[in-house]
Amino acid sequence: MTSLNFALHADAIIPVAGPDNIVTGKSLVVRDGLIDSFMATDDARQLLDIEHIELSGHTLMPGLVNAHGHAAMTLLRGYADDMPLDRWLNEKIWPLETKWVAPDFVRDGTEIAAAEMILSGITTTSDMYFFPDVAAQALQSAGIRTQVVFPVMNVPTAWATDAREYLDKGLALRDHFRNDDLVDVGLGPHSTYTVDEALLSTTATLANELDAAVQIHLHETAAEVLAHVEATGERPIDLLARIGLLGPRTQCVHMTDIGNQDIDTLVQHGAHVIHCPRSNMKLASGACPVTKLKAAGVNVALGTDGAASNNKLNGLAEMQAASLLAKLESGDPTALSAVDSIKAATIDGARAMGLDAVTGSLEVGKSADIIALDTTGLAMTPGHKVDSDIVYASSGTEVTWSWIAGRNVLKNRQLQTLDNQALRDKARSWRAKLSQ
Ligand SMILES: [Zn+2]
Repeated sequence: MTSLNFALHADAIIPVAGPDNIVTGKSLVVRDGLIDSFMATDDARQLLDIEHIELSGHTLMPGLVNAHGHAAMTLLRGYADDMPLDRWLNEKIWPLETKWVAPDFVRDGTEIAAAEMILSGITTTSDMYFFPDVAAQALQSAGIRTQVVFPVMNVPTAWATDAREYLDKGLALRDHFRNDDLVDVGLGPHSTYTVDEALLSTTATLANELDAAVQIHLHETAAEVLAHVEATGERPIDLLARIGLLGPRTQCVHMTDIGNQDIDTLVQHGAHVIHCPRSNMKLASGACPVTKLKAAGVNVALGTDGAASNNKLNGLAEMQAASLLAKLESGDPTALSAVDSIKAATIDGARAMGLDAVTGSLEVGKSADIIALDTTGLAMTPGHKVDSDIVYASSGTEVTWSWIAGRNVLKNRQLQTLDNQALRDKARSWRAKLSQ
């Protein structure tokens, strides 16, 4: 294992901070797991008391932030495709989850997700799933920085039978990780169609008292919004605003069906949007108006969503999809440039989770959450602009090294905290079980 004191000598650095999008001629020095300095490479090579890692042909950038996911759902990848969201959930996903979701399912599925995320440059993830205690443990031992939002629902599941039990177990989990450097625990009310107003109100009270993060699926499809309006006369986001569940610690996932009044509401309350372009496209849920949101000053982060609706947990692929979809949705080729997409996948994701003082950019004093990408492949040549190549030309497999809080989790494309072969064996045995 690499020590927590090292110097990285790469061709270029994309710091996502400061005046330059791309920095050359500098090495990045890490001490005690923190970014210590950017030093002229010739000088950095003279440092005697640290390990030197030569990364010729590589670009360094902050580790990517996956602001919305359901890690354990890797075990449902490819189980049900090409269906609309409501039928996909009701006919396929929820019945299978009812039958199979248990601690072993969550542990194995989450470990597979962790491996896949590390291999594609994700160093911080958010997770919302049953048995969040098991997921938190798996992500922590994989070494990934994690925001776990524990599920809050009215319906009984294998993890909890009623609202009280969801909250009690979730709050105990929050206590357990209170002083953890890698794991943060927030509240994850699933949506306004699975959680009633009374429970959403209780969630708001708790989140405000604890100053905890809240993440909720919101305005995922036009049908969801319409059904809510028809039933209550109110748009889902207005319900959240009215009961105090919309604020600077609220992360609204999806937000495809939104109008100008909803954007005003987001701005007024300082809430964040988590955009999941690949999941939204695959389920034909709609397209989040990223350009309009950003123009209004709303912070927009990126998420993969679960592998059952994406079907990959790949940070590079998500950036690429976000930029392409933003252009199509707005009819504007300047929408979500490569630079903007990289920000959305790094510092804006960290900001949405309240982690921007710790991660999301390469700045002195921040945690060494760093990835190195091999940019020498044919598809990335001739290399006019490396940030453009990373967003528009990468295949998703260019990440060769990764450090989280200075801990080396990927070395020369080899996982350091997880066993790739063992995970593939586990996945195969789950396929056999789930198809029974
Ligand atoms: Zn989701």
